[in-house]
Amino acid sequence: MIKITDIRATITCPDDMNIIVVRVDTNQPGLYGLGCATYAQRCWAVAADIEKHIRPLLIGRDPRNIQDLWQMMHVNGYWRNGPVVNSALGGIDMALWDIQGKLAGMPVYQLLGGKCREAAAVYRYAAGADKEAVLEQAQRWWSEGYHYIRCQILPKYCSPESTLWRTEHPNDGFHCDPLKYLRTNVQMFEYIREKMGFDVQLLHDAHERLLPSDALRFAKELEPIRLFFLEDLFSPEQGESLRRLRVQCATPIAQGELFVGPNDWLHLVKDRLIDFMRVHPSMIGGISAAIRCAHVCEAFGVRMAWHGPIDMSPIGHAAQMHMDLAITNFGVQEWPGMNDAMRDVFPGTPELRNGYGYVNNEPGFGVGFNEAAARKYPYREVDWLWTQYRNQDSTMLWP
Ligand code: MG
Repeated sequence: MIKITDIRATITCPDDMNIIVVRVDTNQPGLYGLGCATYAQRCWAVAADIEKHIRPLLIGRDPRNIQDLWQMMHVNGYWRNGPVVNSALGGIDMALWDIQGKLAGMPVYQLLGGKCREAAAVYRYAAGADKEAVLEQAQRWWSEGYHYIRCQILPKYCSPESTLWRTEHPNDGFHCDPLKYLRTNVQMFEYIREKMGFDVQLLHDAHERLLPSDALRFAKELEPIRLFFLEDLFSPEQGESLRRLRVQCATPIAQGELFVGPNDWLHLVKDRLIDFMRVHPSMIGGISAAIRCAHVCEAFGVRMAWHGPIDMSPIGHAAQMHMDLAITNFGVQEWPGMNDAMRDVFPGTPELRNGYGYVNNEPGFGVGFNEAAARKYPYREVDWLWTQYRNQDSTMLWP
């Protein structure tokens, strides 16, 4: 019988962001699985959950029974869900799928039903302080073969200190003027369309920073731009505002990266309030939860665009791409770019060619973890300034 013999969580920081790698070992020589449990802002809490709570629960159990182990991990703490426990669950679930693929001698996309496409189209970021800077970066991506580009004039750039209407003793953080953010981004998109035409697919992430009525106006003013999608226009807490938007605006809507429960997204899909699902697979419970989500979304005409930021390991990125290949309702894959250190620590990281992301055909996810290389990049203390956006008068905004 195959048994789990050990589970470890490793925090490493090869690309300026703390990431958490889970390794599940078995009693079979050379057989182990790797998963991504990254929650960079609370990484020690996730690592402790994995090693102190879940490790003793899973040792001695058969790693092939993924669904049973998933249910057990989900309810074993009695209170369930949230970013810490679901990142831990998601990372281990991913490692179990990696083991299953290695046992079968198949890439995970084969276990999920086989390829619908050879590679996953990815989107890249073009962000800058003004529309000219955004255009320059967007044109560079286009010339390198990328057809999907997320364009942003970020709030911190929209409001230079000198133009802000400040109080005398403001708090620390990025201070900005949300309405100026709204205006400058609309102007930027008009400029990009004028210069690049309509062949390029343009995306934008509003990061929930606008008040609902301003957000609604933003979506309507962007309607002529014909975005591929507009993301996180409202916070999950203001999700009901999507009903107002859907009856008066055709801008495609993406949402979901902030969900931390395996079914938190359900109401958006069944009520047809979004066009693209952005859930972060490890935050909702890993491959097992994410692939269920993708299949339900397919029935409602919603396409998948997993949340794939830099605070995620290449194991997590590869896991997303394996799902991308195996679902018919794939939309686009986020790709933040990676430095050489990340590729050194994670041999087998997906490769990008002409705007498409390719996974290799090794069993499991096909990504390794060089622990000796990882030790060169230990945990780094981070001041989370980007989650401290503030209004002109220093009131906290959503990040
Ligand atoms: Mg986002």
